[in-house]
This record gives sequence, C-alpha cells and structure tokens, in this order.
Amino acid sequence: VLLPEVLRNVDSLKNQVGTWKQVGKTIGVVPTMGALHDGHLSLVRASLTEADVTVVTIFVNPTQFSPTEDLDSYPQTLESDLDKLSDVGNVWVFAPAVTEIYPADFSTSILAPAVSEPLEGEHRPNHFGGVATVVLKLFNLTEANFAFFGQKDFQQQRVVQQMVRDLNVPIKIRVCPIVREPDGLALSSRNVYLSSDEREIALSLSRTLNWAVGQILSGQRDGYELMVEMRQRLIDAGVTRVDYAAVADPHSLATMETIQLPVVLLLAATVGTTRLIDNEVVA
Ligand code: AMP
Repeated sequence: VLLPEVLRNVDSLKNQVGTWKQVGKTIGVVPTMGALHDGHLSLVRASLTEADVTVVTIFVNPTQFSPTEDLDSYPQTLESDLDKLSDVGNVWVFAPAVTEIYPADFSTSILAPAVSEPLEGEHRPNHFGGVATVVLKLFNLTEANFAFFGQKDFQQQRVVQQMVRDLNVPIKIRVCPIVREPDGLALSSRNVYLSSDEREIALSLSRTLNWAVGQILSGQRDGYELMVEMRQRLIDAGVTRVDYAAVADPHSLATMETIQLPVVLLLAATVGTTRLIDNEVVA
C-alpha cells in the first residue's frame, strides 16, 4: 500500500474535506500525538470500518503539557508512523505545525467540563482544557462524522463526550478497548522511556487492576479499602509515586466509597520518571 498523503496545513485539509463532503463521503477522525503503536492502529481500523474516509491527526499539542512535563522529549516518529498506517489501510494524515493550530493571535479556549477536575485534573491542572480545545478544533477542521478514542485515556474520553454533549457538537464518539502487550502492559507511546527493570515494575499497574477486578467480582464492596490496597500493591511493586488509585463512577468519575456496578478502576503512577496510566471497567 502507498504511504498516506500528509496534509500539513489547515487550508489543504479544508480543501480536501470539501471534496469529500461534495460527494457525500462520511469522515472518521483519529486524533493522536503520533509515535503510533497498535493501540492507535486499532482506532484507525475502527474508523476504516465505519467511515468512508479516515483522517489520522498527528499533533503533539503543546497546550496540554505543563511546563514540567515531557513536551520537548515526546517521541516524534513521523516516517515510521506513516509506514505503520500504510500497513493498516488507506488513510489521510493531518500533521500541522504548531503555528497552523495556534496562530500568534489565538485566544479562545474551551473550559473543560466538571469531569476533568478529579484524578488527572488534580495532577495536571490545565491538561484537559488543552485537550478539549484542540479536539474541538480537529472536529471542526475535519468535519468528521465519527471520532475514535481509546479507553486507555478513560477520563479523556469522558471529557470529550461531555463537551460534545454540552456544546451539541455534531459528531459521534466511539471508544475502543485498551490494547495491551501479551503480559498485560497497556500500550503507550511513553513505554519507550522504560528501562527493562522499570518495564517489569510497570506491569504492576495491569496486575493490580486485574487483582482488583477479581476482588470486586468476589464481592468486595468497600471502595475505600480497595483504593488503599491498590495503592499499596503499586508501592510494594516498586513504583516511584502513585498519583491516584481510584474506584470511581464511570460517568461522573466521583470516588465510590461503596461499590455499585458499573465501576471504573483507575491508576496513575510514575515509574522512574515515566508517568503511566491504566484502567479497567467492571460492568
Ligand atoms: P495519544 O497519541 O497518546 O494522545 O493517544 C491517541 C489516542 O490513542 C487516544 O484516544 C488514546 O486513548 C488512544 N490510545 C493510546 N493508547 C492506547 C491503547 N493502548 N489502546 C487503545 N487506545 C489507545
């Protein structure tokens, strides 16, 4: 298969979208920050199945990183990203420069909904405002009928779904399952930062989630106790810091002291200097 066509600026994307709309094609968008892996590719496959045309956006969005985060070292691998996409099927890539998305006089932003406040929001205060703003821009630019997100970023998909609902954005959001390594580690562009020792410690996230799911399925209903135990398991396994180990309502993301299904278990921990997240829903 040929390498995907790469659109670098807003005008060329809008022209292309115009030609698709004119002939009534449906459009699927897969927003990413590049450094593509099989998790991203699963979203691309879902879009290829549902939409006539698929646009994969590759944009490391500076406004969702805090000054202390890894914006400058975030992996950028466009050539191999294009290779991987060409193996999956016929897609278009939108890979704009930062100035295309944020011209010098840019000044409007989305105030992220209440679901952005707990969990990630407590540790990354402006993160979801940056996400919501760029995602709405990408929805508008691509005029997509469908957008594909991973359950890996559970709170992110809630923020996006809430924004779409609150602002009546005419798009359907599809959430795809977490893709994992055979040993359980959730695929992440940040996994390349892990040394082999750290990678072993990183397995404690998925193992802790599996253990906790088992606890719930065997009748554990004390959410508080489960949160304490999940945190302790991560610490015992050697993680450097636990940001949160939460049992929450999948819709409101409020902590659940007494477990009632459905429930989502969410973990965020740093291993060495690499921050990892993972989650599991029990329905
Ligand atoms: P990112 O490039 O990390 O911003 O991720 C882009 C999209 O890919 C988001 O919707 C993520 O939730 C999704 N994604 C990342 N990792 C995975 C994974 N392991 N399984 C499924 N989707 C994923």
